[in-house]
Amino acid sequence: MKPSCSVAIAVAVAAATLSAAGQPPQFTDAVRAFIKVDAPVVALTNARVIDGTGAPAKERQTLVIRGGAIAEIGDGARVKAPEGATVIDLTGKSVMPGLVMVHEHLYYPTGPGVYGQLGESFVRLYLAGGVTTMRTGGNTNGVMDISLKEAIDAGRQPGPAMDATAPYLNGPQNQLQRHALKDADDARKQGAYWADMGATSFKAYMMITRDELRAAVEEAHKRGLKITGHLCSVTYAEAAEIGIDDLEHGFLASTDFVPDKQPDVCPGQQAGQRTIAALDENGEPFKALVKKLVDRKVALTSTLTVFETFTPGRPMPPGLDVLLPPLKQQFEQNYQRTAQNQQSLYTKLLPKAFALERAFAKAGGLLIAGTDPTGGGGVIPGYSDQRQIELLVEAGFSPVEAIRICTLNGATYLGRDAKIGSIAQGKQADLVVVDGDPSKTIADVRKVETVFKQGVGFDPARLIASVSGKVGLW
Ligand SMILES: [Zn+2]
Repeated sequence: MKPSCSVAIAVAVAAATLSAAGQPPQFTDAVRAFIKVDAPVVALTNARVIDGTGAPAKERQTLVIRGGAIAEIGDGARVKAPEGATVIDLTGKSVMPGLVMVHEHLYYPTGPGVYGQLGESFVRLYLAGGVTTMRTGGNTNGVMDISLKEAIDAGRQPGPAMDATAPYLNGPQNQLQRHALKDADDARKQGAYWADMGATSFKAYMMITRDELRAAVEEAHKRGLKITGHLCSVTYAEAAEIGIDDLEHGFLASTDFVPDKQPDVCPGQQAGQRTIAALDENGEPFKALVKKLVDRKVALTSTLTVFETFTPGRPMPPGLDVLLPPLKQQFEQNYQRTAQNQQSLYTKLLPKAFALERAFAKAGGLLIAGTDPTGGGGVIPGYSDQRQIELLVEAGFSPVEAIRICTLNGATYLGRDAKIGSIAQGKQADLVVVDGDPSKTIADVRKVETVFKQGVGFDPARLIASVSGKVGLW
């Protein structure tokens, strides 16, 4: 081979690496208004890097961003900012990967039995909070998840890259905004229809039967898509055997330990949760279930944020000021009611959720995380994603482990860990700059200064200001 030829190949390989990382789209002016860093070459210097793998933080690093990717990273003594680069000195600040969160929603409980469709403001809040990739965990709006995903990819909306989940796959229930599956054939048809419409993920819900779940799993897998579940009628062990990819809400939706559980019948979420609150994380029944999930490579999604809002004695959740005033008041009333509930099962259940999720991860399970902005409200996109990291630390994970669960683990589940989820040369430049050191003080994850998505730096303050006081309208 002639030398010129291998040079050409090297250049082609380099170009392929860059394009694999993903060039940012052409943004509209409306999106550009939220961008504060956009240059051909950006060098972040004197940065503390928390790389998302769980490794200890590294001090005084230089990161060079070019073409949407991390072109170079290393010790500041070795890696210098290239000539002409836009240099940002991050002395005292940290860089971590963009968050990859997998139980997000574009809707919020606004009234009795009704979910307001708030995708327009939510995608801004998610991005402002440091989320650069997210999976919605079920939708109650039909097409908005898919439409917003497409608009974000095309540069017409600011927001995280999105796995858009189809409307819930559920059996008969009383929710106005959800379809009730008729049978397994209907589950297959729904799967096919929504995949054709552009959905990239599925979510089974509490009343689905085993036959319907099996049909949905087959249809999703046939198309190379994944399916998760917030279950009740089907146990975790049954779902694992059917081939589900992920289970939502840690173990708090498991009905595996309910005595006399009837097949395909939901005994009520509370009945399941009473058995979970009393479960021994070192006992054989729980260990056997964990082994089954680990052996079958079923991931588990931690959503501690939503459960915290049900638990008396917890701090007021962050971010409530972005809500429309009546929605904020509505949550504050719920918060007071929760505080006065002496009998709440969650007083036991939240610490148990901590222990069970830790045991699952310790046994080799893939623990991933999301926030679930539902329940009685108070789980605010972006803010709650940061809170979820704090709660994982409270659960007993080290700060860098908690960050890994919310970055690389999510990317691994989505099958995109070669491209996103950690900070390494050649990977997409999805980065969160925070003031402080979250590897020591986890609350510093709240101090987000810039969110880089494909190397373009978004301004969280502007994103939040654009929706503040209006979240609830759109
Ligand atoms: Zn949810």
